[in-house]
Amino acid sequence: MSRATEYLQHVYAVIEQRDPNQSEFLEAIHDFFQTMTPVFEQHPEYIDANILERLTEPERVFQFRVPWLDDAGHAQVSRGFRVQFNSAIGPYKGGLRLHPSVNLSIVKFLGFEQIFKNALTGLPIGGGKGGADFDPKGKSDNEIMRFCQSFMTELSKYIGPDTDVPAGDIGVGGREIGYLYGQYKRLRGADRGVLTGKGLNYGGSLARPEATGYGLVYYTNEMLNANQLSFPGQRVIVSGAGNVATYAIQKVTELGGKVITCSDSNGYIVDEDGIDFKIVKQIKEVERGRIKDYADRVASAVYHTGSVWDAQLTADIALPCATQNEINGAQANNLIAGGIKVVAEGANMPSSPEAIEAYQAADILYGPAKAANAGGVAVSALEMSQNSMRLSWTFEEVDNRLQQIVQDIFAQSVAAANEYSVTGDYLSGANIAGFTKVADAMIAQGLV
Ligand code: GLU
Repeated sequence: MSRATEYLQHVYAVIEQRDPNQSEFLEAIHDFFQTMTPVFEQHPEYIDANILERLTEPERVFQFRVPWLDDAGHAQVSRGFRVQFNSAIGPYKGGLRLHPSVNLSIVKFLGFEQIFKNALTGLPIGGGKGGADFDPKGKSDNEIMRFCQSFMTELSKYIGPDTDVPAGDIGVGGREIGYLYGQYKRLRGADRGVLTGKGLNYGGSLARPEATGYGLVYYTNEMLNANQLSFPGQRVIVSGAGNVATYAIQKVTELGGKVITCSDSNGYIVDEDGIDFKIVKQIKEVERGRIKDYADRVASAVYHTGSVWDAQLTADIALPCATQNEINGAQANNLIAGGIKVVAEGANMPSSPEAIEAYQAADILYGPAKAANAGGVAVSALEMSQNSMRLSWTFEEVDNRLQQIVQDIFAQSVAAANEYSVTGDYLSGANIAGFTKVADAMIAQGLV
């Protein structure tokens, strides 16, 4: 066994022994380590610096009680988290997720991925993530507000525009960022740079809501073009109906593709006439309803319960935009049987390890989350820049910068894959390009 392989196995065993129950975190580490052998073979200095043990242990983890009052006047308690994973290249940056599944393992996997995603953007942001096991589904505006105020009362002690800048993720959009910022302001003063994803009238950036979905489609377009393909005429399966899915649907349609599905945790819509993003937006963002309602409004749409990945549809491109591990090995094989040639991830870690193996065995063009969905955090970093300069760029200016950043991410991934003789492997390319940036910054800063 080579020294590199031995080192990777050793560090994985150390992590597994420390946190045997953190299955999502271990999965993210496993996926990452699988692509690292060529780097450690060519650069034994990373082994000498024991860079992987350092990189896989968060700099700091906060876990806290979030007490809040429901509308019936009952005291409720949620569990809040913030993981400040790595600050080698800038202040911690990453979203807050509100979902009943949130636990330390999930926040750590997200924070770990965020380090490399943020490095790939080329902007000076480190990796962090947070959230709570609070379930926003069915809660009133007042309950959401009281929860956000309580959550921020504790979180405000650890964040700041130059230290840690949270944003949205699943369950956290413009409404929640507004409540969180309002509470931060009462506690610490009006410092807009402390959160991104803000409303336009109090320091938000144009194109931030669109950025993750648009970035995903720009990235997919890069993959297609590099392989002599393009969007016009392609049938696209999108999962999810949140912020990422909605704007991915809009941009695919604009570029000439046809999105035939969208979904939520109960079921999915198939619309052979093409999903209309405006109706999805109205149902999910304005009415806060369920995707089933789409079929009541659109004659060509059919609603089914269950997972869209079990649907056995014929399509060319899959854009999973819902959540982690939404596609298992069998479902990946379904997609391949249905003619899928391209998978690009809008959600974080939506493909299980077995699904990734299936893509690789079938030579699918596979765009991993940390590259494909980096557009969101990239525009968050542009929001931070605008806040610092106290000015606002136009939509076109932000969108042009986003397109350039996504093209650079793709180009860096291709270059890293070529350099390490894994040409066409965009997963390895993204991991290696992100890793070397962070590892070199850490080593330059000494043993910290
Ligand atoms: N939650 C998003 C992500 O997964 C965005 C984070 C941010 O804007 O800071 O990258």
